[in-house]
Amino acid sequence: MSTLLDEALTRLDLAAGFAQAHPEVLARLRRPRRVLEVSIPVRMDDGVLRVFEGYRCQYDDVRGPFKGGVRFHPEVGADEVRSLAFWMTMKCAIAGLPFGGAKGGVRVDPRGLSRSELERLSRAYVRAISPIIGPNTDVPAPDVATNAQVMAWMSDEYSVLCGHRSPAAFTGKPVPLGGSLGREDATGRGGFYLLMELARSRGWLPDRTRIAIQGFGNAGQHFASLAADAGFRVVAVSDSRGGVCCAEGLDVEQVRRTKRSEGSVAAHPGDRISNAELLELETEVLVPAALEGQITRANAASVRARLVIELANGPTTPEADRILDGAGVDVVPDILANAGGVIVSYFEWVQNLSGSSWTIEEVHGRLRDRLVAELAGVTDVASEHGVSLRTAAYVRALRRLNEAYQPMGVGGSRPAS
Ligand code: GLU
Repeated sequence: MSTLLDEALTRLDLAAGFAQAHPEVLARLRRPRRVLEVSIPVRMDDGVLRVFEGYRCQYDDVRGPFKGGVRFHPEVGADEVRSLAFWMTMKCAIAGLPFGGAKGGVRVDPRGLSRSELERLSRAYVRAISPIIGPNTDVPAPDVATNAQVMAWMSDEYSVLCGHRSPAAFTGKPVPLGGSLGREDATGRGGFYLLMELARSRGWLPDRTRIAIQGFGNAGQHFASLAADAGFRVVAVSDSRGGVCCAEGLDVEQVRRTKRSEGSVAAHPGDRISNAELLELETEVLVPAALEGQITRANAASVRARLVIELANGPTTPEADRILDGAGVDVVPDILANAGGVIVSYFEWVQNLSGSSWTIEEVHGRLRDRLVAELAGVTDVASEHGVSLRTAAYVRALRRLNEAYQPMGVGGSRPAS
């Protein structure tokens, strides 16, 4: 049976020829450097000890310290973190960041935990992975169901273990603890800047551009607010419990309030829509912002959007890629579309290491410039080689990894022994 990572690597294979990547470099990129599996004992509020399963996968660090989020989710497993860490490697390369790729996670449903249980779990996870992380080795950040509060606990636990404060060991922290302004909404904002750019180049007016968003976590919510504020029509949103739609456009702030108070957008008054139906809605833009494997061989032919912006990691399978490509649907791939989060994580790391703090205008300006320049580069490669935006993004990322490996003696110039 092919694993998620095998599936993810087919994208690398597609790009390899165009990137003129050396076979030795490709061989290095087919396996993670290391996957740490840990058991995390946590005393629950009722006195019972539960032992959770946790992971940290460090995929590749040729371009810099390993970098990537930590997710708390019941489906977390070794195969999943491996492919997520591979995507982080490609994401940091396409974003031009001096980082490699990593990802971690704990197999848990965080909705079933009290706040103090969540804190003990976060701290225990850091104790378990502490031997392999640090500001110059591996820098964790938020991911699915983790946030600035979780990073605060993790960062504090790490400082206790080190015997000194080490803010650059984690990103996505609260601002008073060394977090960067603009990190909270960075993933959604990055996707929004790409949307603005793509709508402009296609001549799409915001009020005629309908958007459906699957997933209403951090990335989906901020993207929805920014798009609605700019006049786009957010016609449907959903989360794991279901969705709501309105052809004239939803009041996104109201929907966010419902999500906060009721725990789901499905409780919002209006027409119901299922997650599956949302993906097939007739819109200009579809934004998968939830989990992996949502657009597959089974439903790709039913996607009616003209543009897909992947705010989630890995929402489209390679088979679905081919179907969307054949149908002329442009897909802004995850490694570019959701890179805003890790780009501002990088800004945070730089600020921590240099003891400086940037204004929100600086953060936004630098984020936009980076993403818009990268989108232009990816679009050029796509038209030059007649390939999809995804393959073009992999080509550019792989070229950078290839260039970094060469002076290391992998793929070409080998130092004399
Ligand atoms: N979890 C985010 C991602 O998948 C951010 C990672 C980071 O900031 O290191 O890109």
